[in-house]
Amino acid sequence: MYKPTIGLEIHVQLKTKTKMFCGCLNISSSEIAELRGLNVELRGKSEIKPNTNICPICTGYPGTLPTINKKAVESVLKLGLALNSEIPETSKFDRKNYFYPDLPKGYQISQYDKPLVIGGSLNNVKITRIHLEEDTARLLHTAYSLVDFNRAGIPLMELVTEPNIKSGEEAVEFARELQLILRYLEISDADMEKGQMRIEANISVSKNSEFGTKVEVKNLNSFRAVKEAIDYEIKRQSEILDEGQEVKHETRGWDENKKITVSQRLKEKAHDYRYFPEPDLPILDLTDFDLGKLKAEIPELPLQKRERFLKEFGLMPEQAEILINEPRLAEYFEKSVSELFSEISENGDKNKHVKLLFNYLTSDFKGLMNEISLSIDDIKIIPENFADLIVLIIKGEISSRLAKEILREMAASGLDPRRIIVEKGLIQISDEETIKKAVMEIIAKNPKAVIDYKKGKENSLQFLIGQAMAELKGQTSPDILRKIFLDYLSK
Ligand code: ADP
Ligand code: MG
Ligand code: ZN
Repeated sequence: MYKPTIGLEIHVQLKTKTKMFCGCLNISSSEIAELRGLNVELRGKSEIKPNTNICPICTGYPGTLPTINKKAVESVLKLGLALNSEIPETSKFDRKNYFYPDLPKGYQISQYDKPLVIGGSLNNVKITRIHLEEDTARLLHTAYSLVDFNRAGIPLMELVTEPNIKSGEEAVEFARELQLILRYLEISDADMEKGQMRIEANISVSKNSEFGTKVEVKNLNSFRAVKEAIDYEIKRQSEILDEGQEVKHETRGWDENKKITVSQRLKEKAHDYRYFPEPDLPILDLTDFDLGKLKAEIPELPLQKRERFLKEFGLMPEQAEILINEPRLAEYFEKSVSELFSEISENGDKNKHVKLLFNYLTSDFKGLMNEISLSIDDIKIIPENFADLIVLIIKGEISSRLAKEILREMAASGLDPRRIIVEKGLIQISDEETIKKAVMEIIAKNPKAVIDYKKGKENSLQFLIGQAMAELKGQTSPDILRKIFLDYLSK
């Protein structure tokens, strides 16, 4: 057995209004592409038309001058503050020189020895640095090769971790938590499928405490690919060492179809990018930034929210996680729960009530949202009304079947559930005769359940009520049914 060591390099496109060094719009966010109405079908996907969102600066014309996007710098500083990193007093941009057709200037403006953020940690993984650079153009290889400069100059943040991750699973946990934080801070949508978040994994294995030769794996387009590629490399490298051979220092790519890594290039000598300070940009004095204000803008982060939700609401970890992954839904949940508590005075069954609300929110409510394609911000049901609906269910005034119907009406009209019940005459069957008739019928049809109940099986009563409710098409209250059943069954 060998000891695996993993370090990650993660690139993230930042959600700013404009690009990193020019005034072009930042089309990494799909809303802006929509807004410009420049979408076209490209390789089966709707995308902004190539080379329509460019200017002399981001296409690298000689004689043009870059200016620093302040919002991009602030975004990286904010992330640094959220990860308890050090923000140095000064920071500087450098030119990273290399030739590739996606790099119009022949160099990329990046940061070398003075990044914006140093150190910090997340999930017990130490962070080395976070710096800022410009994204490159995109090469599209179809019948011919096309260079699309729309992406060139989009603010790109790079986070590098120390090599202290021990498995593919840990690497994915780290990357997922980072993605959540980026979304909570609203500095990136960090969608891996859209290339807004790109992960490179460095992997080595060794028998002793010294590090082995590392291999860098690129083309990881999903969290699953990150895990599979790391697991694959650990196995591949271990087998090489078992055979008494040496692991080559190289860059490999993940082949998603074959589920293997393949060699891309050997790294026998270190790449020399001839970094030097970008002469067209000033050294950044980070003491000019209001770090106190940036810190105050940081919302409750996933870790704290997770702990609080478990403690405050007694949810199961898997349940809490659903809300942690959807902060807007979590906010709605919290508002509804507080409305619910203000209406239900007995606190004994607090956790049970919260669970009921949670279940309705994540099943019926979310299902309805998907069905009518509305987001939580646009749906007409306000948390107060949603809580009222749950109160009606708890009090046994409506069946779960009727609750579904009322919920639908609430989404259509925005009215509160009681008004809908009255206006739509939804509890139609309130006359006792009809209900009694149904109860007697169900009792006659289910002699075994009746006997079971009399022997003490509470569930049998529940079953009988359910049958009668179905008979009455859900149009009565479970409480009235229960009362009438108890009447008959005690005779
Ligand atoms: P390079 O100069 O090859 O890019 P760096 O020192 O910049 O190497 O490290 C890049 C990444 O590789 C970092 O995330 C770092 O933690 C990781 N790394 C460094 N050494 C190892 C190793 N022996 N095994 C696994 N990962 C490593
Ligand atoms: Mg590197
Ligand atoms: Zn531009």
